Amino acid sequence: MKIGLIDVDGHNFPNFALMKISAWHKSHGDTVEWTGDMYWDFDRVYKSKIFTFTPDNDRPFPCEVIKGDTGYDVRSRLPEEIEKSTQMDYSLYPEYPFSIQFFSRGCIRRCPFCLVHDKEGEIHAVEPVDLNPAGQWIEVLDNNFFANPEWLSAVQYLLNHKQPVNLHGVDVRIMNEEQAFWLNKLRLRRSIHIAWDLPQLDLTEKLREVTRYIKPYKLMCYILVGFNSTIEQDMYRIERCRELGIKPYVMPYRDFENKTTPSQYARDLAQYVNKPQIFKTCSFADFMPRKGFKCAEYLKNTIIN
Ligand code: SF4
Repeated sequence: MKIGLIDVDGHNFPNFALMKISAWHKSHGDTVEWTGDMYWDFDRVYKSKIFTFTPDNDRPFPCEVIKGDTGYDVRSRLPEEIEKSTQMDYSLYPEYPFSIQFFSRGCIRRCPFCLVHDKEGEIHAVEPVDLNPAGQWIEVLDNNFFANPEWLSAVQYLLNHKQPVNLHGVDVRIMNEEQAFWLNKLRLRRSIHIAWDLPQLDLTEKLREVTRYIKPYKLMCYILVGFNSTIEQDMYRIERCRELGIKPYVMPYRDFENKTTPSQYARDLAQYVNKPQIFKTCSFADFMPRKGFKCAEYLKNTIIN
């Protein structure tokens, strides 16, 4: 068969599903290529779209077209035989010199702004896929790495491969001394990303505890703003991170369909916090994102703790 592929979101990051699909078809003797602009004579075309807001590619093909991934349908699944395969075709994305890995899918939580639980269900371990033969490091995309009941074998796998690692989903609420011990053993490529998204939870003491095990400069804390949080709650989370020596990173809320636009305040706060040279040298009140406008304006009638 001749298989055509379309990465509808563009090639901004390797598409996991398309790499699996391609590897599976090639291992069954099929030819696989990007559809490009010129070729039409495919027997089957797979289109993958992760983000709902990405405009669809509606080019017609005179063959079977299979659409998948969260941008089309949050419950879409790969065919079982491809899902089970651990083969990956990294040759689709030669510009990315790393491997992608998952040790688990799903999550123990149901955060109100997140689709992971709807899409993947309860947390469950999955078999690791093949690594990129030309990969220089491993991007670990688990949603909640340490909630995986088999997290220790995942750590062992990463230690055995001796490559630098980027861990994407570390849930600080469940982190304990043993997990921190193993985190310190890994060759981390950049800071450990944690999150304090829900302002109703006060994670100050938990973060303080974690900084006893992991040096705070190794931690970066995502702070979601614009999703039912007040300015006081935003500033509280940011300032607690600052006091503990943890780098905060403000994420203005965008809904899955990209229908909400972050407010000017959320964008100004992100600009202030996410630029270390600004964050370290002036207060938010003194920050002037535009000529003639000081962010003290946002803080009027606001009591900052
Ligand atoms: S912990 Fe992370 S992955 Fe899990 S539901 Fe919350 S935001 Fe989603």
